[in-house]
Amino acid sequence: MPDSHADEPFRREVRAWLDTHCPPEMRGPADGEEDHCWGGRNPEFKNDAQRRWMEAMVARGWTVPDWPVEYGGGGLSSGQCRILKQELARIEARNPLFSFGISMLGPALLKFGTEEQKHRFLPEIARGEIRWCQGYSEPNAGSDLAALQTRADDKGDHWLVNGQKIWTSHADKADWIFCLTRTDPAAPKHRGISFLLFDMASPGVTTRPIRLISGLSPFCETFFDDVRVPKDQVVGEVGKGWDVAKFLLGHEREMIAGIGLLGPEEGLGAEFADLLAADPILRAEVAAFDVDALAFRAMSERFVDELKSGRAHPVQPSLMKYAATELHKRRHELRMALAGTATLEWESERTTFGMPAREWLRTKGNSIEGGTSEVQLSIIAKRLLNLPVAGATPST
Ligand SMILES: Cc1cc2nc3c(=O)[nH]c(=O)nc-3n(C[C@H](O)[C@H](O)[C@H](O)COP(=O)(O)OP(=O)(O)OC[C@H]3O[C@@H](n4cnc5c(N)ncnc54)[C@H](O)[C@@H]3O)c2cc1C
Repeated sequence: MPDSHADEPFRREVRAWLDTHCPPEMRGPADGEEDHCWGGRNPEFKNDAQRRWMEAMVARGWTVPDWPVEYGGGGLSSGQCRILKQELARIEARNPLFSFGISMLGPALLKFGTEEQKHRFLPEIARGEIRWCQGYSEPNAGSDLAALQTRADDKGDHWLVNGQKIWTSHADKADWIFCLTRTDPAAPKHRGISFLLFDMASPGVTTRPIRLISGLSPFCETFFDDVRVPKDQVVGEVGKGWDVAKFLLGHEREMIAGIGLLGPEEGLGAEFADLLAADPILRAEVAAFDVDALAFRAMSERFVDELKSGRAHPVQPSLMKYAATELHKRRHELRMALAGTATLEWESERTTFGMPAREWLRTKGNSIEGGTSEVQLSIIAKRLLNLPVAGATPST
């Protein structure tokens, strides 16, 4: 969408501000997930530039530019947010703060939280002071998430939480968890679920890291053993946590869909032009990929505009998540094929992360986390295409 005349001063202001405040070291791609800034109670910055970049964006409210100013946001209109995004992309600025609080919990609190909860949690999230993790999946409740068994028993002045979660990303580093619990075991499975927030430092919370195929351990098994949770830390109505959970999943899928936009706009063809001249089959595969990547970029821009203006179909996050994660897997399959034996390197002097093989293996999880590709296809088939879906419909 082209700028209107009214937008031009804002674009000039953003450009000038970024020139001054975005350190040169914070421009260009990060060196893998390990290089991200996650904030938290005890934040770990890779260098001083990363700290300054996060603090500068926090001070402007631009870690969450579309949130209201009173909750720590930038209070920008959707048009201004688009300009900020474009200007950040123009200088290849890194994300100043990776945060499940920003991408998942915040939107759910804005919709379902009490005024007190919004004032308590949202500014902390915007400032990156608390690192959150997501307690949804359990050993027997993944695609069928509503089968979850972690209990929160009403003890009068508090909830008592017992149970186990699994695949909890960064649980061992998180300060707080947003957690789905069963508060009414007698109710049908989609009811009787409540959405609780609690401190991971509470007595009775333990985590055990799980090692991934890539050699990293970005997630954990998480155990709750008589964890006391204050009564006012339920988001939404008691027993209606499924509504909050589903809403948040839409935002999680949007966040994951961002990986569809990774890589230079010119595409793989431009990056590997010299290698492709000699291999017509690979050249055709790369050309087909680059066309699909461009189509995804265009679709994504349209979808984001529709989401911001409230015109999005509820199934849109599933469409974007499915397309993005399958595209990203293809991107890395091709990169492995293109770079030849160099891609087999596992350890290197440069870093333990960021090598093609580890990144390629990590992409396998992209089409599982946030609901698998099969689950997204079932949702699209049922809710968008009105097709009959064979077997049990997954509950995520
Ligand atoms: C990298 C990564 C990070 C994650 N982070 C988190 C996190 O932070 N917090 C969290 O709570 N969870 C997290 N998860 C868990 C994730 O949400 C689940 O793995 C996912 O929902 C699938 O559940 P499952 O693993 O139990 O597989 P299952 O549900 O057992 O599925 C196994 C296979 O069967 C298929 N299947 C199942 N049911 C159906 C159906 N009805 N129709 C068609 N096919 C079906 C699935 O598509 C899949 O291929 C993460 C997962 C990964 C890989």
